[in-house]
Amino acid sequence: MITSESAGIGKPSVRFLGGTESILGSMYLLEFGSYRFLFDCGREIHSRFPRTGLRSFGIDPASIDAVFLSHSHVDHCGNLPYLVSEGFIGPIYCTHATRDLTEVVLLDSARIHENEFARTGRSSGFNSADVEDAMEQFVTVDYGCETDVLDVAKIRLFNSAHVLGSCMFQMDFDWNRKNFRFVFTGDLGRFGLPIVGEPMHVPSADMIVCESTYGGRIHDSFDETIQQFTSLIKRTVDRQGKVLVPAFSLGRTHLVLHCLRHWMETGLLPKIPIYVDSPLAQLIEEVYEEHQTAEYISTNIEFEWLESKDDAWYRTTQRDPCIIIASGGMCEGGRILDHLKVHIDDPRCSLALVSHQSPNSIGAQMLAPTPKVRFHGREWNKWIEVAKIGGFSGHADTHDLTRLLANAASETGKICLVHGETLQKETLEQKLYELGFSNVIVPSFDQRFEM
Ligand SMILES: [Zn+2]
Repeated sequence: MITSESAGIGKPSVRFLGGTESILGSMYLLEFGSYRFLFDCGREIHSRFPRTGLRSFGIDPASIDAVFLSHSHVDHCGNLPYLVSEGFIGPIYCTHATRDLTEVVLLDSARIHENEFARTGRSSGFNSADVEDAMEQFVTVDYGCETDVLDVAKIRLFNSAHVLGSCMFQMDFDWNRKNFRFVFTGDLGRFGLPIVGEPMHVPSADMIVCESTYGGRIHDSFDETIQQFTSLIKRTVDRQGKVLVPAFSLGRTHLVLHCLRHWMETGLLPKIPIYVDSPLAQLIEEVYEEHQTAEYISTNIEFEWLESKDDAWYRTTQRDPCIIIASGGMCEGGRILDHLKVHIDDPRCSLALVSHQSPNSIGAQMLAPTPKVRFHGREWNKWIEVAKIGGFSGHADTHDLTRLLANAASETGKICLVHGETLQKETLEQKLYELGFSNVIVPSFDQRFEM
């Protein structure tokens, strides 16, 4: 490792400004000569810039020449409005779908901040005008096309198959009469999931910054997932119950919805009503329909958005079996709690957890083998059937990552692992040495490495 002081002046290097110790706040600064390129500008939950702001790292947002956004999850894009309001005026490169999804996601955050301001008189974050200003700086690029950046670098975007529009970046540039290649994977998806296509192999480079969320995990196969999920639904329908599916609004809701409709159409599931209670997912659906492959909308199975709380109450208290997908992937908030409170003590019903559940979340407590759970100020009898459905993850697991990185092993200088818990990174580090990488680095927060 080198410190800022000992770094060669202007020598290509990357500073790790977020997403090092956890999966939050993804943000990496590539510098060479007088250029500064920021890859992702994500938010840690409930905070503005990680720690105390970009300026505390000696980086004036106005000094950044361009931003490259891998995808629209808030831990990758959530600080963009601050970056712009604090002086960044350069282009923000991403795919067209990422641009559209990011706008919906950031406006939703702004709306929450504005509501809080209206309620408490205190501003907790950016507003819609800040988001609109940031959106003006977006420049969209298609997968595969080579694009010039400020006449000093060329970028190419590859499908990372993590969520609609997600990409990895390959950037080529010259410094001191030498060619350099930098690759940033963003979040990598999996082989064999519907809708978003297959992830592209990671190209070799002088430096790769690679995610490692599930570097030490092996997901259930999608075939196992189909088996688990369809049998849970059939069991529930047989006992005249309802299936509740908490799901994050961006991506997971759409993947689950697509699968359920597809399975009903192909006879894997009985045709029962599907309701979706998630205003944000409904807005995101419009972007999915605009950018999605024919595969996504090729089913005739209808479903219904629950537009208001009254609609939701009416549908959830009806007698007949149905599937309700609702916002709040870990049951920590969102519309799912309205449904869970009605059905939690009904042993005919089931709760299908299709997302990661962090240790103390209500979702994790629902999974724990205890008879009761506590939330909203009281204890609830947990008589609903609870099942973890593991195979919907949008992140590559150990097998996917080694397959995606295998071609790059022999010709890559350094590979830096980010966006993962320690155990995941350590397991992947070992795997990558076995694969033939010669220099695997696990950076700490605010470390800088030369390319
Ligand atoms: Zn992501």
